[in-house]
Amino acid sequence: MPPAAFVLERYDAVLVGAGIMSATLASLLQALDPELRLLLVERLEAPALESSAAENNAGTGHAANCELNYTPPQPDGTVATAKALAINAAFETSLEFWASLAEQGQLQPATFLHRVPHCSLVWGDADVAFLRQRHRQLSALPAFAAMEWSTDRAEIAGWMPLVMAGRRQDQPIAATRIARGMDVDFGALTRALLAPLQASGALELLLGTTVTDLQRCSAARGGGAADWRLTLRGPSVDRQVQAPFVFLGAGGGALPLLQRSGIPEADAYAGFPVSGQWLVCNDPALVERHHAKVYGKAKVGAPPMSVPHLDSRWIDGQRSLLFGPYAGFSSKFLKTGSLLDLPRSVRRRNLVPMLQVGVNNLPLVRYLINQLRQSDAERMEALRAFLPQARDQDWTLSVAGQRVQIIKRSPEGGRLQLGTEVVAAADGSLAALLGASPGASTAVTIMLEVLQRCFPQRLASPAWSERLQQLLPSVGQDLNADPALLARTRERSDALLSRAPATR
Ligand SMILES: Cc1cc2nc3c(=O)[nH]c(=O)nc-3n(C[C@H](O)[C@H](O)[C@H](O)COP(=O)(O)OP(=O)(O)OC[C@H]3O[C@@H](n4cnc5c(N)ncnc54)[C@H](O)[C@@H]3O)c2cc1C
Repeated sequence: MPPAAFVLERYDAVLVGAGIMSATLASLLQALDPELRLLLVERLEAPALESSAAENNAGTGHAANCELNYTPPQPDGTVATAKALAINAAFETSLEFWASLAEQGQLQPATFLHRVPHCSLVWGDADVAFLRQRHRQLSALPAFAAMEWSTDRAEIAGWMPLVMAGRRQDQPIAATRIARGMDVDFGALTRALLAPLQASGALELLLGTTVTDLQRCSAARGGGAADWRLTLRGPSVDRQVQAPFVFLGAGGGALPLLQRSGIPEADAYAGFPVSGQWLVCNDPALVERHHAKVYGKAKVGAPPMSVPHLDSRWIDGQRSLLFGPYAGFSSKFLKTGSLLDLPRSVRRRNLVPMLQVGVNNLPLVRYLINQLRQSDAERMEALRAFLPQARDQDWTLSVAGQRVQIIKRSPEGGRLQLGTEVVAAADGSLAALLGASPGASTAVTIMLEVLQRCFPQRLASPAWSERLQQLLPSVGQDLNADPALLARTRERSDALLSRAPATR
């Protein structure tokens, strides 16, 4: 079908997908160079309706306070702490950025950020021993020095009364708690980041518009790198736009666009979609009695993205409880995507790695299929391991966002990666974000990597360095290597974000 009309416009950057990642990058770019002309293209009718929507993710400000999969056990009986430290520092960087925007009056923290203790809870001798070791090692580090430990049932009941009510007495149980934890409404945050950019005219937001293709223009302007030309399918008119820099922040839609770009770096990747569901409770009486994010230990053989947790949530100002996720398999790359997404992403160069991952991860595939087959009664049974007195009528099933895990070709064969990865063209003219975890909480650190890889010279310039330093006073320093800097950074963020209500 021929397009209705073509209008060709040029921007300094085109960002595809209006989720937390593009919103964060747009906000950073505008702060570093207010003259930049930015275009953000979103296929749905509003920003943040896919993974960044509050009800599609768990809203945990991932700081590795309570997520046991970030400290895997080691053969010598210790736990690995490097990932936990990196995630903790990355979340501090996010807080630092939001704090600076709050200081400038651009963000109202109370609209998206709520303080809530982050707890881990385990039962059975082996898991209690694991948690004790984790606490011993982490609490010796400045980032986690405030971590409390308990095997005392009465004390744990004080931390999470609903979880302890009606629980078996004959089981050894242990918990840790860090009081300075966060719940984040990433949907509200995405919209709040975009609003001032649109109001100032720095950012044009095209909704209901899908990027269907992108290609390198043949002629470079003034001898520089050639622009990208993107084809946009809008509600009434198709357009083409041009830009020297493109960011594919399209969530699950990033891989197909990266493949269309034809950059050689795309060849190494394929996607493995994982769907999810939650049980949600809106009963005010129950909601009021739980004030924590409580993370447990995944079942043996379960993937890290299915670690069960019971969370206090604040979504659009309303409190609720959420339990899950129950993972599953769907061939869609977006919640609103097509069942053909996975088959369409298969290429000659990624087929073998995909098959290798399928064969090498049969227990994972089997686990996901079994999860999909779970009945309502089985889901409630899993919830009752956390909340022994949970009643069916208080909980409803809700579909979570879609995660597309990365499959990457390596010399050893196809590898399933559970983190996120920035894939950038060698000349820095295009970057895409693949993967899902730890995700939104670390958006600022991930977008700093995009800037480092795609704008290295401008980032090193006095103007950009100075502006970045104002936004992120700790930038370029290692929070984990300097306890005084960590304490200063936290104090500043807490003070500026203190409008996040200390609920209770
Ligand atoms: C079940 C689940 C639980 C999670 N829990 C947490 C958590 O507790 N804490 C945390 O920090 N993170 C969590 N995450 C991860 C987090 O939600 C994501 O990392 C984050 O939202 C990704 O943001 P994004 O902007 O990359 O993608 P998205 O928010 O998915 O946005 C991508 C956008 O691109 C649009 N798009 C796609 N293709 C096109 C196209 N061709 N043209 C135009 N637009 C397009 C989509 O419509 C969408 O709006 C969770 C994710 C899931 C699925």
